[in-house]
Amino acid sequence: MNNPPITAIEWGTLVGQRPRQAGCNSRLAVHGLNVQVPLARITTAEGITGFGPCRLTQREANTFLGAHLNDLISPERGVATPAASLECPLWDLLGQRTGRPVYQLLAQQAGKSVTKPVRVPCYDTSLYIDDLHLTTDEAGAALIASEARFGYEHGHRSFKIKVGRGARHMPLQEGNRRDVAVIRAVRDAVGADAEILIDANNGYNLNIAKQILTETADCNLFWLEEAFHEDGVLYEDLHAWIEREGLSVLIADGEGQASPLLLDFARDGVVDVIQYDIFSYGMTNWLETGAQLDAWNVRSAPHHYGRHVGNYVSGHLAAAVDGFAFVEWDEVSTPGLDGSAYPLAEGQVLLPDAPGFGLTLEEDRFQQAVAANGFALP
Ligand SMILES: [Mg+2]
Repeated sequence: MNNPPITAIEWGTLVGQRPRQAGCNSRLAVHGLNVQVPLARITTAEGITGFGPCRLTQREANTFLGAHLNDLISPERGVATPAASLECPLWDLLGQRTGRPVYQLLAQQAGKSVTKPVRVPCYDTSLYIDDLHLTTDEAGAALIASEARFGYEHGHRSFKIKVGRGARHMPLQEGNRRDVAVIRAVRDAVGADAEILIDANNGYNLNIAKQILTETADCNLFWLEEAFHEDGVLYEDLHAWIEREGLSVLIADGEGQASPLLLDFARDGVVDVIQYDIFSYGMTNWLETGAQLDAWNVRSAPHHYGRHVGNYVSGHLAAAVDGFAFVEWDEVSTPGLDGSAYPLAEGQVLLPDAPGFGLTLEEDRFQQAVAANGFALP
């Protein structure tokens, strides 16, 4: 294949909306209704384009103009490190040029082949701490359970609940009690077959984690995410305790400012699921890390909350990584971006058998965004 230069880069931010406002997590205030969706579109001299989520300054973009495609991405090595900020647009572009879905390209790089339609489990990540205005645990738990039912009716079968109410937003004991009531109510609402994940955003400590897991032992939790900031000693203790208690809950961690020792903890078997961000860590790094995690029998579940397109992009990695657990699904609709090629049913998202990521941009809306808040080069 020839090696065309990049001749144009357009960048702009669309604004999406969630079906309802996302509330607090254990650390942060209300996350809100709107979602910023920054997108870059790159064009080669042959007139082929690729686009995807991307944080990019105009100055940075300038350095890619005129660069030859093979220096930025190749099917054998993925995206070159200096081009990491353009990662998703480049994968889409490579898909458009080869006529292949990104998951096929990723699988090939991992030495795997894909013959069947790719369906990837996903979880509803929208169960935030939305109940702080409610004075009783019963009312708070009923609210979050109703949110889980909303997800269930929209095809979800796995649900992640934000917990850690006692870390900041409520007095400690009351917050813990509310967390337990919420977990129980969600389990009742979604039935025994659904997977339930909880995420404390580092708002627990070791003893609180054990207390919550003890009090919800009959709820069959799938994972506990970010119980506290990664600590090898404490995770070793928690992991051994979980085994002694006969629980099956997994320990998940890795978003945000993860410990540089996290992969050591995974290798040592005290962290069960790694959650590096699909964008900031990136698909190319994930390919390598996912293979390593497979070898250690550790699961992969990339984080992406709050940028909409991660719903679609993340699942492509599942074709290359055996231990891929879930796509994180943050339900958003963004005028200008058509994600309808990714239908969600029975807890799984079906990836489109279309070139690149199989997403489409509405030209007028994207041009408006580029003019209003972005840039177009040259
Ligand atoms: Mg999290």
